[in-house]
Amino acid sequence: MNYDKKIDEMGEDLMSLTKLTYYMEEFPYLVFYPGGKKNKSIRSINNKVRKESIHRIHTMVEESVQHITQEDVTALQAFLGLQGASVLPLLISKEGDLYLGGLVKPELFLFKTFSNEHGVPIHQEYVFETKINTLSNDKLEPLIQSLINQYIFCAKLAKYSRENWIAYLESRFQSHSLVTFAQSKKEEVQAVEKMNKLNLLSQLKYPEDIAFWRHRVEIVMRPFRSIPMHWLWSSGSTCNHQKDLIVHSEKRVMELHCDICDYQFFFYYEEDALQLNEEFDLEKVRKRVNTIERQFNEIVEKNDSLLDKLKRIRSIQLTLKPFQYKWKSVCDLLEQINKIPKQTGDIPFSPFVEIFTQLNKITIPNHEDESYLLWFSQIELPNVHVLKTIDNWEQLLNQDIGRLLTEYEKQLEEYLEQNKISRQEEFMKVNNHSLYWGEVEQMLQLIHDYAGLYPAHVITQVLIGKTSNKIRTEKLHYTSQFGVLDQWLEKDAMKALKTLEKEGWLQKLSKGFALTDKSIPFVEKAV
Ligand SMILES: [Zn+2]
Repeated sequence: MNYDKKIDEMGEDLMSLTKLTYYMEEFPYLVFYPGGKKNKSIRSINNKVRKESIHRIHTMVEESVQHITQEDVTALQAFLGLQGASVLPLLISKEGDLYLGGLVKPELFLFKTFSNEHGVPIHQEYVFETKINTLSNDKLEPLIQSLINQYIFCAKLAKYSRENWIAYLESRFQSHSLVTFAQSKKEEVQAVEKMNKLNLLSQLKYPEDIAFWRHRVEIVMRPFRSIPMHWLWSSGSTCNHQKDLIVHSEKRVMELHCDICDYQFFFYYEEDALQLNEEFDLEKVRKRVNTIERQFNEIVEKNDSLLDKLKRIRSIQLTLKPFQYKWKSVCDLLEQINKIPKQTGDIPFSPFVEIFTQLNKITIPNHEDESYLLWFSQIELPNVHVLKTIDNWEQLLNQDIGRLLTEYEKQLEEYLEQNKISRQEEFMKVNNHSLYWGEVEQMLQLIHDYAGLYPAHVITQVLIGKTSNKIRTEKLHYTSQFGVLDQWLEKDAMKALKTLEKEGWLQKLSKGFALTDKSIPFVEKAV
């Protein structure tokens, strides 16, 4: 790894920790820290503890140090910023006793900063909570020995920052054999997953072949499904979430963990090996992916009739391509007709509406030399029933499409012209009053602007131009719709609103009205 830990960051970590250190001449191999929250410094150490437990530990550390290299001692001392011969920290409580046994795992110090205000806080997971004086030499010695080794391990990790390690582990994940294989077969693996869900699969013969294939998919895809999608297919090295780096110094393992994905992998430092949650025999995985693709292709080869239909749909699409611009103008006209407030008689019909609507939802790429699996996975066929209508469509396409579309366009234009409504035209009759379209438009605008704000009777008062106290205080007499129906009685205006509601132009709210999908197109959006 070529990453260099930022010097100032490292300096700061050490400075805050060194300020907490306490050395004792009689125990040169130990260093003492105040243990527990808000224990800022060590004032004195209990005499009994000093003579018994600390003395025993010191003797064992002194012995252990003889068996480790100078290089490791130097690294360990650099890790904690230690002086003299000291190598092992002990935590001392406020009362001058060993704090929760005194011994502490090195993870407590790794990638951490400590404030002078709070001392070394309690982290239950890092202390042993053993009573040293109850441990026999046979138990205590291996513990001390193992602890020193754990410190040496963490000292090696501490040469780089936490962020450097995370970046390094992420890059190692990217080069794990399963991940690199998955990425080299990304198209095929994703095609299998997609095909497995596609309704086109239901159109393939023979059902027992398909059932077998789908059963195999479950087995073949297991390795790829064992890694979250964000990790396996992201453009970065893993998911984009904030991750935890957990060090298990006893096992010499680092763990990179994402809480959101609920996923982690392990890095064995000494073996220089990355281990995923679940490991698979890559040779088997490779063979299975090839087999599942071959099996799918063989199934498709037995489906001449479906292949033929797909090719015919594609060719119909190509035939219609030059007429898409005409279809676009037909669509515009149909849209305008949909917005006519009052439609009389039937809207002109053409079978081309169905053909273009359906075909424009379908994507069938040209089949070149890719496998059927890859080709099928790119096909978009939202409605498989269209496969049954191909014969009809082909017959219709034998006609002069351009001329038929132009005629249809004309019919629609005529219909639109006949159904156009002017503002002066009567839209409906309410209790013998003519309600004109221009008035309806204004009513809709008023409802739109004040939807849900005022009860129905206030809206009717605005419409008939009645100035009540409420209307004045709310300044509603300034709205441009005030008095639109000034010749109307309040009860008639109310009837008009109710009639519009009944015909789907308005919807009732707990307070007043709002517009509906039918009426929204007729108002100016801005208030
Ligand atoms: Zn994640």
